[in-house]
Amino acid sequence: MQLYSTNRISENVGFEEAIFRGLPPDNGLYMPLNIPKLPQSFWDNIENLSLNEIAFEICSGLIGDDIPKDDLKTLIDQAIDFEAPVVPIKENIYCLELFHGSSMAFKDFGARFMAAVMSYFLKKSQKSINILVATSGDTGGAVAQGFFDKENISVTILYPAGKVSDIQEKQLTTLGKNIKALEIDGTFDDCQALVKQAFLDNDLRGKFNLASANSINIARLIPQSFYYVAAYAALKKNGKKMVFSVPSGNFGNLTAGLLAIKMGMPNTTFIAATNINKVVPEYLESGVYSPISPSKSTISNAMDVGNPSNFPRMRALFGDSLSDMKGYVKGCYFDDNQTRDGIKELYEDYGYLTCPHSAIGYLGLKEFMDKNSSDDSLGVFLSTAHYAKFLPEMESTLGFLPEIPERLESLLSKTKVAVSMANDFEDFKSYLNENLI
Ligand SMILES: *Cc1c(COP(=O)(O)O)cnc(C)c1O
Repeated sequence: MQLYSTNRISENVGFEEAIFRGLPPDNGLYMPLNIPKLPQSFWDNIENLSLNEIAFEICSGLIGDDIPKDDLKTLIDQAIDFEAPVVPIKENIYCLELFHGSSMAFKDFGARFMAAVMSYFLKKSQKSINILVATSGDTGGAVAQGFFDKENISVTILYPAGKVSDIQEKQLTTLGKNIKALEIDGTFDDCQALVKQAFLDNDLRGKFNLASANSINIARLIPQSFYYVAAYAALKKNGKKMVFSVPSGNFGNLTAGLLAIKMGMPNTTFIAATNINKVVPEYLESGVYSPISPSKSTISNAMDVGNPSNFPRMRALFGDSLSDMKGYVKGCYFDDNQTRDGIKELYEDYGYLTCPHSAIGYLGLKEFMDKNSSDDSLGVFLSTAHYAKFLPEMESTLGFLPEIPERLESLLSKTKVAVSMANDFEDFKSYLNENLI
């Protein structure tokens, strides 16, 4: 597999180099040079394939010989050890549930796959690596659970004290072993700035092998295309066009869907559903891309992104053509009150509990299907996280506390282990000097 940088200055690299570098030196994003169409026989027989079999075909096509087939199969089975069911909500509307992995958010697909692949390459090269990551909530949980107990990898997660939910904090701070949590007296931006400074510090870089695990890594993007194709397989028998509504922030999830289209997934449209950080829906409407800074806070806070990091990838996939992008992607956005109404409607009319992010996916789908009622499509909205990760908001919206799944309940009773730290680079650096591998 060869990858190019969307800024077109840095040279092309292989898969292994792309995942350990994360970003190309010219600060673009890595994209596959070739996105092969999967053979017609694959699409014709797809209804007989499991999620992991579909994942294997996608990866073999994209990654090629960089990982031998038998190893690739083992890696996929290690990483994707949970399902992504398509659940009927009402006539022609389905929910693709992506929260059945260890941190109960769709980010498990990317984080677990990236961890498996990195640890595979490290074992071969006999190297070790230190992952540094700042989190505002969901990313840290997925990375912690995904990289837990992986050989040759140490993970340091920085999170802002008092600014992540109880459940999110417990997901980061109760694992132990190779996962270390630093509770920073500051904001998410402070955490991110500390991590950036560490990457730029020659002293640290000379001593340690450092890597990032953020969502722009190509190893996090690829596995997010698996579930679109699996949902297509599950609904293919209906013989209808399909519309996927994707609650979006940094747009990694939606970009992975576009990758599936490039690989030949037929008859599919996407809805870019956002909260009031509506940069992409506005671009689709006006052709003008104007980032929002700072981003606006909403109840779908994992989508509070004012300058989506995967946008250059979306553009690259359509050769910078707005009209081509508009052929496949429709935009829409909703404010917090509409989001709450969406949560209530799904519960009151269909008995379905959904998190604020996923409710935006539902609202986007409903708006689209109302506007296009003449074309007989099947709609699928993505549920990006389990509702129980957002209990205070669910309770105030619904007026009662919904049931907490056993897995999260038991997490809450575990003891948090985190090192408290001031927002100070010298403190952070001496911690790293003592703790990295
Ligand atoms: C990260 C996240 C999103 C946004 O996904 P992107 O790939 O950044 O667009 C949506 N919902 C939840 C629950 C998330 O954690």
